[in-house]
Amino acid sequence: MIPKHSVTSDDYPRQNNLMNDQETRTDKPEEACGVFGIYAPGEDVAKLTYFGLYALQHRGQESAGIATFEGEQVHLHKDMGLVSQVFNETNLSELPGSIAVGHTRYSTTGSSRKVNAQPAVVDTRLGKLALAHNGNLVNVAQLREDLLQKNCNLVTTTDSEMIALAIAQEVNAGRDWLEGCIQAFGRCQGAFSLVIGTPTGVMGVRDPNGIRPLVIGTLESEPMRYVLASETCALDIIGAEFLRDVQPGELVWITEEGLASYHWYQHPQRKLCIFEMIYFARPDSIMRGESLYSYRMRLGRHLAEESPTEADIVIGVPDSGVPAAIGFSQASGIPYAEGLIKNRYVGRTFIQPTQSMRESGIRMKLNPLKDVLYGKRVVIVDDSIVRGTTSRKLVKTLREAGAIEVHMRISSPPVTHPCFYGIDTDTQDQLIAATKSVEEITKQLEVDSLAYLSWQGMLAATKEDPQSFCSACFTGDYPIPVPEPMKRTKLMLEKVVV
Ligand code: SF4
Repeated sequence: MIPKHSVTSDDYPRQNNLMNDQETRTDKPEEACGVFGIYAPGEDVAKLTYFGLYALQHRGQESAGIATFEGEQVHLHKDMGLVSQVFNETNLSELPGSIAVGHTRYSTTGSSRKVNAQPAVVDTRLGKLALAHNGNLVNVAQLREDLLQKNCNLVTTTDSEMIALAIAQEVNAGRDWLEGCIQAFGRCQGAFSLVIGTPTGVMGVRDPNGIRPLVIGTLESEPMRYVLASETCALDIIGAEFLRDVQPGELVWITEEGLASYHWYQHPQRKLCIFEMIYFARPDSIMRGESLYSYRMRLGRHLAEESPTEADIVIGVPDSGVPAAIGFSQASGIPYAEGLIKNRYVGRTFIQPTQSMRESGIRMKLNPLKDVLYGKRVVIVDDSIVRGTTSRKLVKTLREAGAIEVHMRISSPPVTHPCFYGIDTDTQDQLIAATKSVEEITKQLEVDSLAYLSWQGMLAATKEDPQSFCSACFTGDYPIPVPEPMKRTKLMLEKVVV
């Protein structure tokens, strides 16, 4: 028997693999995906989904898609590119209906091809379903085998399609949507925040650890019209009100009868990805009761307390390092300044820069303000270092602009392990902190000093139970066991040792 209760708001207090050039890849982990769903009869659900995805663009820039349900009929448009490139007034007007599911993608499983773009739409005996997935399954090999044995026709190479097909199998075996989904989720291990559209309603689901975020909102004018999104910034853009998070191991089922909640997993635990808080999610999104801007400022304050230094100005690496830099400045008393200006219109480029541009390094994205930096001892704050390639160029740029000392402060601990739960952090041998000590990295980046925030400091700044986060890329302590063959593909160092 599945426990069911109605829910009120009181119930719960970046670069792509089309271009493999290291020079043009961002030196940051890449987010997997953004998902969005809406149940709003009478509204232009395709357009609302478009704007929701527009706000979630930072979560994936390779492809975008929207599926709408008009009764039994499904309308789908998806393609490679940014949300603003994939959709226009004409194709949005061809997506009528009262339910919509949207997705913006960065590939972590399956290559970057149109066929792998989401939502994944599959047929069942109860009609079509459209599924949008953020996260990564760790038991794909087993699930794939399982599906193939039961004669499933896999069209794509994504784990997301496998989840959709597993649901279809269960439904085709005679179960209804709810029971079919719950059975299918029991076959999935890993990180999955899902939005699933059906002819009768839309579903929001989180895996038993709640690794990736998923929130519920209501359209202000109509409390029975619900929105599901990866982050609250996607609610804000369409004027929806934040209701609450979907809980780990919870499924919300939104139909004409309203919103019903089912706890499909008996023993969920809270293991939200701490990197969502540090870097991935937008600073204006709310997680654990506050904006991430506030959390990131606190990271900066902890960092200043842990690793003070003498300097004239504090600057942040735009945009993600700025809140922590402001926090560092407040705690240290060293004035905050803007020392780097970001070219905000540089998105993904599919054109290789020229050799001379490449030599000028990161200036395509960040330009130093010479009159701010000249003759100054500078503290530069960034949220993380992954490979270290960009950081090194950045330091060179600051020195060329006249900085006499450069002290780098990082508002998270050293990234020593890859992520298997939907973030592309590269293989372990590409993570600078997996192979080098802080002293060695200091030399490699050519900084006067380097300090990372401690793991304890990062978690203390959340003001939450440290156990309620996944921080495996800093510790190697994976909350969901990762099968050995999968581990070996990313733990290249171990592969060499073997
Ligand atoms: S391993 Fe790191 S990036 Fe991956 S879910 Fe855990 S905290 Fe997030």
